[in-house]
This record gives sequence, C-alpha cells and structure tokens, in this order.
Amino acid sequence: MEHRAYVAGEWKAGVRSFPVLNPATGEEFTRVADLGADDMRLAIDAAYAAQKEWAARTAKERCTILLKWQELMLDNTEDLARILTAEMGKPLAEARGEIAYGASFIQWFAEEGRRVYGDVIPGHQGDKRIIVLKQPIGVVGSITPWNFPNAMIARKVAPALAAGCAFVGRPAEKTPLSALAMAVLGERAGIPKGIFSIVTGSDSKGMGLELCTNPKVRKLTFTGSTEVGRILMRQCAHDIKKLSLELGGNAPFIVFDDANLDKAVEGALIAKYRNSGQTCVCANRIFVQRGVLEAFSAKLSEATARLKVGDGARDGISIGPMIDEAGLAKVEDHVQDAVSKGARVLTGGNRSNVGGNFYEPTVLTGVKAGMKILTEETFGPVAPIIEFDTVDEAIALANDTEFGLAAYFFSRDLARVWKVAEGLECGMVGINTGLISTAEAPFGGIKSSGLGREGSKYGIDEFLEIKYLCMSVE
Ligand code: ADP
Repeated sequence: MEHRAYVAGEWKAGVRSFPVLNPATGEEFTRVADLGADDMRLAIDAAYAAQKEWAARTAKERCTILLKWQELMLDNTEDLARILTAEMGKPLAEARGEIAYGASFIQWFAEEGRRVYGDVIPGHQGDKRIIVLKQPIGVVGSITPWNFPNAMIARKVAPALAAGCAFVGRPAEKTPLSALAMAVLGERAGIPKGIFSIVTGSDSKGMGLELCTNPKVRKLTFTGSTEVGRILMRQCAHDIKKLSLELGGNAPFIVFDDANLDKAVEGALIAKYRNSGQTCVCANRIFVQRGVLEAFSAKLSEATARLKVGDGARDGISIGPMIDEAGLAKVEDHVQDAVSKGARVLTGGNRSNVGGNFYEPTVLTGVKAGMKILTEETFGPVAPIIEFDTVDEAIALANDTEFGLAAYFFSRDLARVWKVAEGLECGMVGINTGLISTAEAPFGGIKSSGLGREGSKYGIDEFLEIKYLCMSVE
C-alpha cells in the first residue's frame, strides 16, 4: 500500500496527510499525502515537458508498455482488490471484478492506439489533395469519484496514454489508495516519468481549479456529479478546453408485460444492487406494467431479501456499506420521504442491524410523482417500483428527468423493443439485460448526464484532435 503521491515520476510524501477510512468499520486505517494546487502544477509541467517525446514514439511502443501495465494489474488482482474493498467497501468479489474490468480498458486502448487512422478525402479541385491527421490533444487532466476507484481512472488514462497524451489525475479523496497502487504498477511497467501522475489531496476545489485553468492542460475528463460537472465546465470555459463528462444518472428499468420475469428479476438485481446501488448506471426507477406488477414485485422482493449485508472483505456478502454517513442519510431520507407519501415497503426499509453505514436492500411499491426518489439519484440499495399501463406512458415516464445516462427494459416483442430503444432519451440501453458496461462499448450519457464516450473505438477520439492538410500538387 503506497501512501505517497506520484508526481512527475517521483514519490512525494508532502508535509501534510489526510486519513483514509474503511467505510465498513468507520476506522481510519492509513493516511495519504495531502498535496495541493502547487503540486498539481508541478505534475502538469512535467506532463507538458514529457508529452511530445511520448507522442513521437510508435503506437506499438506505447501499446507494449500499456499491455505490461494491464498484465501487472491482473497479476496483482488480489492485492488491488483488497486495497479497493478496504477504502471503498464493495464486496471483494466485485472488487476483483473491477480490477479485471479496469485492466480490460488498458488492454483495449493499448490495441486501439495502433488503429488511430486518418483519412484521405477526394480533393475539391483538380490539384488538391485532402488528408486528415489525428494527433494527441496534449496534457489531460482527470478527476474521478470514489465508487470505482480503479476502473474510472483506467478508463481515462488508457485512451489518453495510448493516443500519445500525458495524464495528470486527481483521485477522489475517499479512495486514493487504489489510484496510487495503479501508479506503482504503471511505474513498474515502464511508463516514462511525467507521463502519468497521481496527485492526492483533500483540497478538491483548489486542485480542480488548477486542472481547469492551467493553459498547459488541453483536456479535462471528469466522472462525478452533475453539480460538480457544471462547475468544471464553467472553469474550463476560459481556455475552451475539451471536456469529457460522465455525470449523474437516473436510470429507468422498465418491465413490460411480455417480459421473461425471471430474467427481468435477475437483471434488476444486477442493475440495482451492484456496488450496493452506488453506480451512476444503477436502476433508480423501476417501472412495471400493470399485468405483471404483482408477480414481478413479489419475485424481486424475495430475491432482494436473500442478499447478504456486511463487511465486503468477508465471504458471501452481496451488499457492502454506503460510502459514508452522508450517503446513508440520503438513502434513509429517500425511503422515509416515499413512505410518508404513501409508498409501501415490501422488504428492507431500514438501516441494517449490521450497524455503521449499512442499509438493508429495499423494495418499495406504490411509488408516485412528487417523491424525491423519482427525481434524485438515490445511490443506494433501494428499488422503487412504479406501475404503468401503456408503452407510450412508460417511455414518457422514463424520459421525465434531466438525466440521460443508462436505461434498461425487458420485452420480447420485436416491434416494441425497437420503439422503446429508439424512444428512450439516454446514451445506453440494456435490452433484456442489466449489465451493459464493457471496454468494447461506448459508455456515456446525454442531457445532464454528460458529454463524450469512454471505451470502444469512439473512446480514443476524445483524446485526439483532427488536423486537415490541404495540399496542392501542381
Ligand atoms: P460523488 O457524488 O461521486 O462524490 P462529486 O462530483 O462530489 O461526486 O465528486 C467527484 C470528484 O470530484 C471527487 O474526486 C471530488 O473530490 C471532486 N470534486 C468535488 N468538488 C469539486 C470541485 N469543486 N472541483 C474539482 N473537483 C471536485
């Protein structure tokens, strides 16, 4: 476990430190270097100085280093997963899954970097030839959240480095250790000094401001809340920095009356309770057509009641703690607000008797407009069920939100599947499945859920600029 920050290719302890708590116990288990905007500037300067040499290497050379890095991550899965669970709380099996998922992005973009093809366009005049180049944007700043302490960084750093950019990352102050462990392995893999920095610190505002306003940074990539995304977008306006924003979601999960109900329940369990409900693509509103309302609600609450709550480091746990007391209080507030306005608890509905930051996995029915749980992201293990009658009604309800990240629906009717898939206002749709994230696919949202895509062949474009050459051959 490394507690120093990795700045400009050097390990730096700094003069101050801040605590890292285990959300399962509430205990401080280590402290990490508390750096600030000045160190961020040093990291940016080093990135700027090193980037051109990195970009001048062949894509294959960068690919070889990145593949070594992903291999080291996979070789060290167990240690990385334990560090991740200790600082973030998710069950160990999910933490192992996250390491594999993070590594898969490094592998994907290592390969994709070798396929940054330009274009040759037929000229507009007899003597003209038009050629399109794609070049790395330069220094990339990154700000990431606590819910996927490894994968959110992997998804950003891998395309950046593969494209020939340099990367300066600030991990969430709640989960700095996974990021530092990645830096240890990145250094071992041979990433040159300055190309990859992880600057830890508690001053999120000051460090963020430096990333947004330092003219050497040409792009900012952020995952987090819409509220903070708005601040960062404003701060980046002066330099017209390129932005990728993966922001909040309010995912609808729709069960039509022709759905395979067992599959729908299985999908709901994954889409709702993965990471204890703390993902931006978690099903936040479960719409069920009236004909299957009772059967689906009963099956979902039965399956939910079987989920085991506890310290994620122990075997057989499906639901870990909320990240902190504030996260727990929000879940509790959403449930109490819904119940006070007429919702009915089918299972759960309380803080868990495990104590600490744990909440019981919960299913509510009779959820209606006017309840907070429908408009705000709960970020916890609560499944609110809302009934509907027609397909058009379901689409309208699903779209009645400022967000547009993920959506899920279950139906076996082909015409209905197309209609709903095309009608939903969002960036990603799971059809008869509750798990959609993978390195091969473009992850991202529309409306207030963000800008840009991560993963897939599209993900690397976010780190490239297009330059066109107009050449006269006469
Ligand atoms: P979450 O709900 O995941 O905590 P936030 O948007 O609050 O979402 O945080 C995501 C990341 O953004 C964290 O690393 C946090 O420290 C950072 N952050 C929060 N506020 C700011 C800010 N004003 N400027 C820059 N970074 C910020």
